[in-house]
Amino acid sequence: MTSSEHVVIVGGGLAGWRAAEELRAAGFEGQLTLLSDELHPPYDRPPLSKRLLKADVIAAPIVFAREGSDEASLKLEIRAGVRATGLRPGVVRTARMGPDGTEVTGEVGYDALILATGVRARELPALSGHPRVHLLRTFDDVIELRKALDTASSMLVVGAGFIGAEVATAAHDRGISVTIIEFLDVPYQRSLGEKLGGIVGRMAARYGVALLTGTGVDELVDDPGSVHVKLTDGTSLQADIAVVGVGTEVNVEWLGKPGATVWKAGITCDAAGRAVGLGPEFGRIYALGDVSAWHDATQDRHQRFEHWTTAVDQAPIMARALVRDLAGEAPEATEPLLPYFWSDQFGRKVQLLGRPGLADSVELLHGEEPADPAEPAGRKLLAGYFADDRLVAIAGISAPALLGKYRPLLAAGASLEQCRAHAAAL
Ligand code: FAD
Repeated sequence: MTSSEHVVIVGGGLAGWRAAEELRAAGFEGQLTLLSDELHPPYDRPPLSKRLLKADVIAAPIVFAREGSDEASLKLEIRAGVRATGLRPGVVRTARMGPDGTEVTGEVGYDALILATGVRARELPALSGHPRVHLLRTFDDVIELRKALDTASSMLVVGAGFIGAEVATAAHDRGISVTIIEFLDVPYQRSLGEKLGGIVGRMAARYGVALLTGTGVDELVDDPGSVHVKLTDGTSLQADIAVVGVGTEVNVEWLGKPGATVWKAGITCDAAGRAVGLGPEFGRIYALGDVSAWHDATQDRHQRFEHWTTAVDQAPIMARALVRDLAGEAPEATEPLLPYFWSDQFGRKVQLLGRPGLADSVELLHGEEPADPAEPAGRKLLAGYFADDRLVAIAGISAPALLGKYRPLLAAGASLEQCRAHAAAL
């Protein structure tokens, strides 16, 4: 490999940072440039809705750089505040804000390009632009929301997703009265299924957070002093502030027409992160992290995950593939990744390992959550997701050690009977 090759990474989040680290670990010695439209150095997002939102003072984001793996030791040039605005073969067009407030455009040539632009929080048109309505995706968002929590005594959370639940938990812990509004009849129906979704819903109530399901925001009542909404079921709600957590959109528009049309559900890639869908004239283009939809051989389809661990697991695979690609070597075989995420909410840790979307049945293997929210919380709870009597996913509530004990069964596709025997022996 020559040292003149230039790899450009677009996006300075977890995926972009890990891509840089893993490229160096895989032996890449050429020029490495990271374009990031944020002004902060690459930082971690999960603490935004957990530790940082609960902290009394938020000084700085939790950055990835550490001794021995920082910009200098990685020989990485980070161009902060530089946004990629367009792509033509071999060249990324950029824009940044100049000192006089005008936009300065530029271009960066690449031999290989890594797309790690992640996602942005989706806005809810009915609430968009209201000064008391917040989104949570960036460090700057958390600063604003944290300030608002200082003076609020009531809060609406629109959307019972994981981030909404974590924000609701932090606000409730600060003594704020919280109501979550969820359009579906059962929260987390899509990610956890009805059984576990119902259990997590009861956890909210038990924690003291009101959860309204089967209704959504219809319109905003004009009132700059509060967030006053009419719901689709005809009722009205009013609170000091609101947080919208209704999902995300992938950051692909800057790529132009091919990206926006082919990739609106994520940049489709093979199982090592090589992007598919652009012509060969664009050269070596890879993608990873939240913006990417890698091919999953288990399901023979492209799948996108917004999971911290997915970006971490993808980075070394992609880096090795790119280094071989630059050296003209054939690609290595890759193993399918095992999706995993966690969330800390309502005083419990919720974890999911595997592919629950494949399941045709869900069985509780350990514990039971009392149906009545007035009863004390059950402790450990673990459910198995089965497809044709093969274990395809496991969800745990307050059960991190137990979850780990089911990894071999998941890898082996154990039956319900085998899982029950395993549970009895633990
Ligand atoms: P991002 O972190 O979004 O980084 C993408 C970067 O690219 C951003 O800095 C963006 O500004 C930049 N960018 C976008 N477009 C351009 C452009 N045109 N030019 C230059 N730069 C650009 N996952 C879990 O598994 N468990 C959790 O508990 C958990 N908690 C979370 C809590 C919060 C509040 C959030 C927001 C996410 C959480 N996640 C969690 C998800 C996890 O943080 C993401 O999966 C991870 O951050 C993905 O990293 P990424 O680099 O792909 O994307």
